[in-house]
Amino acid sequence: MIPFLAVALVLGGALILLRALLITQRLIAVLPRGPLRNGWLTLWALVLAFLAGYLGYAWAFSSSHQRPLDLFVPGVFFLGACFVWLTSTLSMQTALSMRRISRLEHENVSDPLTGVFNRRYLHSRLDEECSRARRLGQPLSVLLLDIDYFKQINDTHGHQAGDQVLIAFAERVKGQLRKPDIVARFGGEEFMVIATHTAGTGAVDLAERLRLDIQLARFSLDRAPGATGEISLTCSIGVASLGEGTDQADRLVCSADKALYRAKHEGRNRICADRADEARASTSPPTSCVQVS
Ligand code: GH3
Ligand code: MG
Ligand code: MG
Repeated sequence: MIPFLAVALVLGGALILLRALLITQRLIAVLPRGPLRNGWLTLWALVLAFLAGYLGYAWAFSSSHQRPLDLFVPGVFFLGACFVWLTSTLSMQTALSMRRISRLEHENVSDPLTGVFNRRYLHSRLDEECSRARRLGQPLSVLLLDIDYFKQINDTHGHQAGDQVLIAFAERVKGQLRKPDIVARFGGEEFMVIATHTAGTGAVDLAERLRLDIQLARFSLDRAPGATGEISLTCSIGVASLGEGTDQADRLVCSADKALYRAKHEGRNRICADRADEARASTSPPTSCVQVS
């Protein structure tokens, strides 16, 4: 009876180790290449070595167990296997739920069509950035971009072609920004850029760079069903910077919106910058526009 129990404990442990080995293998498959994956590969090799040890022990010592106390070592073998199995199972579940959480977090802050940040994230981030800039006395600007005559693109080439254009537009804008800048979809065909550490002049330069890049780009429609070829388009941009009258996020947005309205009103494909501070100090108009050919 005692030898049989000893062998049953060691072989049961070996089976549990085999299960842990398979779980570890699955865990390795979901991990990206790097030190963490290498660590789990080492653990996988160790489990394999343990498995060989268990089988060797069962083969070599199965007949030498006579007293109940001889079950101590096979018992430890069995519990050791349970420990390895539990550790690998919990690690696997942790890795999968962390992946799920990070996917949900990403979905929660990004716009499903263009992949840039969504409006909800924009507002919370803008609040944070405004507070930080005020506290540290750093400049901050926002750019509100609106595609000119976008409705015509939808009407002429279809809504899906319009979607393609929005995706490519957001991609181009993102490509022109520095890493700390943030771009978000503000609404339909409007995007907002938060330009951190950027004062009015720098923001206008950035807006001009964006405007020109969009004007020179060709937007392919080939991926939209029923549409082919390329189109070009322009955008208008309203710029506002943190200042005396625009020290809160909502005022900054309102100011950029007014500047954008003016850019549209004055003929589109241009940049208008809010000059609230200057307007208060002089009789100049509250926004100034960059004329383009
Ligand atoms: P303006 O130069 O004054 O900005 O003219 P516009 O045609 O761009 O502006 P308007 O506000 O009249 O039209 C915006 C259009 O954007 C209307 C709406 O159908 C379209 N739109 C909004 N969201 C989406 C979207 O997710 N996909 C597509 N394809 N179109 C969208
Ligand atoms: Mg619009
Ligand atoms: Mg528009």
